[in-house]
Amino acid sequence: MIIINILHIGIDDTDSPDGMCTTFLASQIINRLNDNGIELLDYPRLIRLNPFARFKTRGNGGVSFQIENDDKAGLAREIVLEEVEKLSMFDCDNTNPGVIFYEGEITSEMEDYAFRAIYEFITIEDAEEFGNSIGCEIHKFKKGRGIIGSIAAISLPLTDFTFELLAYRSSQNYGTKRQIDYESVYEMDKQTFPDTFENIDYAEKYIAIEPKTPCPVLYGIRSNTVDALIKAKEIVKVNEPIVDWCIFKTNQHTDMHIQKAKNISSMKQFGCYEVVGEVKNKPSIIEGGHMFFYIKDESGEIECGAYEPTKNFRKIVSYLLPGDVIKVFGGIGEQNTFNIEKFQVIKLNDIIYQNPICECGKRMTSAGANKGFKCKKCGNKIESDDKVPVKIDRFLENKKFYETPVSARRHLSKPLSRM
Ligand code: ATP
Repeated sequence: MIIINILHIGIDDTDSPDGMCTTFLASQIINRLNDNGIELLDYPRLIRLNPFARFKTRGNGGVSFQIENDDKAGLAREIVLEEVEKLSMFDCDNTNPGVIFYEGEITSEMEDYAFRAIYEFITIEDAEEFGNSIGCEIHKFKKGRGIIGSIAAISLPLTDFTFELLAYRSSQNYGTKRQIDYESVYEMDKQTFPDTFENIDYAEKYIAIEPKTPCPVLYGIRSNTVDALIKAKEIVKVNEPIVDWCIFKTNQHTDMHIQKAKNISSMKQFGCYEVVGEVKNKPSIIEGGHMFFYIKDESGEIECGAYEPTKNFRKIVSYLLPGDVIKVFGGIGEQNTFNIEKFQVIKLNDIIYQNPICECGKRMTSAGANKGFKCKKCGNKIESDDKVPVKIDRFLENKKFYETPVSARRHLSKPLSRM
């Protein structure tokens, strides 16, 4: 067996809301490496980290790739640093690039670090100390915050993964309306879903492959397989040049951010979990269109939210009734509310308790506390205060999952089409 000595390269925090994208920078680097006869050992990786990280530009993604650590590795290091220096958006206060070179095998402590970068907050100092302890070559530009994500991007094990094909625009078109033929996107979805997914939000007529920022990405198509991406790219028509494209292996849509919580009170703010609870009250909408309700278990209770951008998902949530047992998946945000990404019905409460019906056919009313019921029509009285159980039909179904729409989905959220 030939053992290859591997050089892992991680890059993060090169872009700003006004432009650039770390994946584009990586694709430029990869082109230059290829021009110099240096090939990657696998697809480049786009790794999404803690969705609540404070300084993220958009989706908190870091990039990494691997090459053979041979006599060309020195040149590769030079190319990487030159391109980061050349293309990063240094003018933005929040752009603090970090580059990591690491030689050798990924250890279990590195994997643990990567999961920490998904579940928790890590400081630049923590990342630097950890990077030094495992023998990384660390390059910090400005504050160098990107080293946090760069180390995680090279270290995360991908037991479950998806692919994303990113097509890039010509620089003179940055910031202008993207010239994508939407009909062809519908056709692509028809021909390749569910191998590709998250292409279109049909209810909102929202083309999800098209970014809404001035970045270099023309479109991004997500898929379980590379073959489906190649087919999808052939179907999608655009009326502007594609200067480059690149396929990344990613942890997007794997639910890797979700931890199994022991119970409600064990969950912490800015963590993402799945937890089982009983619906305490009927969901209701507040001003702004957000919908809230509580779930409870023996350890405590937490408010759950389906926010306005989740659109029709709120209608589904509104069908929940007190007594329903559900498993919710999501994260605890700024307001300490559990933002639901999806839920599974564990057990529906299909019995409600109503006042009895009188012999005359009219529903009775309460005769007062502990005084039973009376009929307003015929004056009949019942002494017992017991309401009568009535079986009701439910729109929701036991065991079934319900999810937020594509337009409101987190990068890491696993869609039902992948479950
Ligand atoms: P884009 O999606 O356009 O690539 P982004 O949303 O990934 O942008 P970055 O510019 O990469 O945003 O900034 C995210 C910053 O957060 C990086 O500096 C990264 O190192 C850092 N970061 C990542 N994970 C964590 C974490 N768990 N704790 C603290 N900081 C983190």
